[in-house]
Amino acid sequence: GQNNAPDYLKGLNPEQRLAVETTEGPVLVLAGAGTGKTRVLTTRIAHILATGKAFPSQILAVTFTNKAAREMKQRIGILIGEGNVEGMPWLGTFHSIGVKLLRRHAELAGLRSDFTILDTDDVVRLIKQLIQAEGLDDKRWPAKQFAQMIDGWKNKGQGPADIAEGDARSFANGKGRELYKAYQERLQTLNACDFGDLLCHPIRIFRANPDVLKDYHRRFKYILVDEYQDTNTAQYMWLRLLAQRPDAGRAATSTDLRSAEGRKPDRVSEPLRGPRGGPAPAGAEQPVSDNKVNICCVGDDDQSIYGWRGAEVDNILRFDKDFPGATIIRLERNYRSTAHILGAASHLIAHNEGRFGKTLFTDRNDPEDGKVNVHAAWDSEEEARAIGETIEAYQRQKHNLNDMAILVRASFQMRAFEDRFITLGLNYRVIGGPRFYERMEIRDALAFFRVVANSGDDLAFERIVNVPKRGLGEATIRQIHDTARALRIPMLEAAGNLAESDELKPKPRAALREVAANFERWQKALETKPHTELAETILEESGYTDMWKNDRSAEAPGRLENLKELIRSMEEYESLRSFLEHVALVMDAEQNAGQDAVSIMTLHSAKGLEFETVFLPGWEEGLFPHQRALDEGGRSGLEEERRLAYVGLTRAKKNLHIWFVSNRLIHGLWQSTIPSRFLEELPESHVEIAESGNSYGGYGNPYGGGSFASGRGGGRQNPYGASRFDSVGASTEKSGAFSNTYSTPGWQRAQANRTEATDRNWGTR
Ligand code: ATP
Ligand code: MG
Repeated sequence: GQNNAPDYLKGLNPEQRLAVETTEGPVLVLAGAGTGKTRVLTTRIAHILATGKAFPSQILAVTFTNKAAREMKQRIGILIGEGNVEGMPWLGTFHSIGVKLLRRHAELAGLRSDFTILDTDDVVRLIKQLIQAEGLDDKRWPAKQFAQMIDGWKNKGQGPADIAEGDARSFANGKGRELYKAYQERLQTLNACDFGDLLCHPIRIFRANPDVLKDYHRRFKYILVDEYQDTNTAQYMWLRLLAQRPDAGRAATSTDLRSAEGRKPDRVSEPLRGPRGGPAPAGAEQPVSDNKVNICCVGDDDQSIYGWRGAEVDNILRFDKDFPGATIIRLERNYRSTAHILGAASHLIAHNEGRFGKTLFTDRNDPEDGKVNVHAAWDSEEEARAIGETIEAYQRQKHNLNDMAILVRASFQMRAFEDRFITLGLNYRVIGGPRFYERMEIRDALAFFRVVANSGDDLAFERIVNVPKRGLGEATIRQIHDTARALRIPMLEAAGNLAESDELKPKPRAALREVAANFERWQKALETKPHTELAETILEESGYTDMWKNDRSAEAPGRLENLKELIRSMEEYESLRSFLEHVALVMDAEQNAGQDAVSIMTLHSAKGLEFETVFLPGWEEGLFPHQRALDEGGRSGLEEERRLAYVGLTRAKKNLHIWFVSNRLIHGLWQSTIPSRFLEELPESHVEIAESGNSYGGYGNPYGGGSFASGRGGGRQNPYGASRFDSVGASTEKSGAFSNTYSTPGWQRAQANRTEATDRNWGTR
């Protein structure tokens, strides 16, 4: 009974508790933001462990970000005591679990277990080489575009043999497929893989090696997946393979997945089929006949925001077909947000047509709770300044910086905030971007380390073979390249060979000899020296540190500091390899970890998180909704943007501030803007137009009126443009929509400049 229940179950509502305690068989929790889906997953793991149903190593739990995985681990520890958790080796993102699987079975994918994970930059460079090697014009057929195509194929779990004729033709006069094939072969020679391979290789390994798969079936007694609405087809295939419990004698072979491709669903009535439910994507399978699959997926179709990256929201809508007899649980009580925030978010998302429709309610009813605030600013500097001031005001009221977040639509928006906060001395951290690791000096240093860890890493080798400058010209490097290719050996080895031959002039020969000797020495030291010490040695002996010490540029000191920081950060890892692996996966790197700091991140990476106070800047047409979505014209792009807005709004627990600016510098040009249509879709009853305390003191209420639809008669006064009442006008009648709205001096100034802005470029303002 309730009273004997362990503590970790006590706070749950009946539906949540059902989801936790139904440990056997498939379970789907389909519910809106903040209803406790993630909490259910966490408690479910705690419950499985506490009741001895499985060891930590027998649970496979997939989260969307590494940060979420860390948090989940922590929370489980809190629920049942850390001693009972003892690491959850299989708790992580699809990618991090994929790396782990691949390291164990690398040879089955034709790799060695010390393979390198390439980042986008490496991938593009590699593809460029292949395109050139084919004698194709890489201006006409940009490597970047092809990299995206490959990524798209991999998201669908398609290898070179699987891609459709049309798709293969569309690049380089029909050479797409060969290029893709050549790319995969090249990766293999490099002993490397890209991000997509982290899923696709395991899928292939499982299909081709039923005994390996069977091992994992025995191992994973429970499978749990968070943010299920954003799984793509490859992730879905991967999951299905692992979740499959074939009947005796029915081995999981490739035919299981392949045979059903393109087959029409054979049952008609599916309670879960939502309005967006289309035909099943490639990879859909027959229902698993033995339904003792202990898989629990949680998600929210309204928060599906990775369609552009191949996510298939239909995966969630098809769950009960895939897993017959599934228990489907809906949660409707939101525990996160105030009634105003929830009201605003629910009203906004109701503008989407393609959705299930869910009820959400909250018991929170505190008269102190403020409405959602909408603010206007002149430009993004002003926006950053005003938000900075607001943050400081909250700070004076004893709010922690940790409880505040700025969620941007596009990462370029971050710069203004970073600059401003540095000026203010306000701690901040950027979450979700590999910012630090993207810096040039960091990438160089990492390239040295990568070659030491994996001498077959030619891309890394090429990056630094002539860094610092050693007088190795293009021709010499090409020669190394050719030798390596001819002999099918790593470039480092080829360089060593060339250094001993007389094919080169004395100077490059000496340079190569030194390079080869250096790496040989460092590779030896890898076994004996502590890795941080080795890293420092490498940077010193290679001359890299000196190169920056001798550099007179303004950035040089900063770069040296970054290098120091890099080495410092390595201390947290037990080896150079594990550090490099971390870097490859560092998409949610955190700075200022442990300190009180404001978080800055994109809306996409804010999924699943929550903050007391949330700032949503840049709500303007073209930025949010993003121009790309608007250009598409169709409904789906815009609806995905709206779901993103819904994700943003529902991150806030108590305070929510939305901003828009009237002028924005985009791609170096000043552009005048119109407020986002999403602002207009917020219900008046839950929204307040903020009296802005910004530097345009006089400008007071930017809307001239009090609230937006009231005001002085007629839609034209509407601050959000004519579109509230005249849905076509907004995007075309830029100035008309605005001109009556703002009557205060600040605004008039803005308006005057604005006209100017439309007349000429402000590139040099
Ligand atoms: P999202 O869709 O945004 O990922 P979610 O459904 O995963 O949201 P959680 O993050 O699990 O929601 O929960 C939201 C907040 O509500 C958390 O702070 C959580 O601790 C709290 N919460 C969830 N269930 C309960 C409960 N039964 N009692 C009190 N608080 C709860
Ligand atoms: Mg969640």
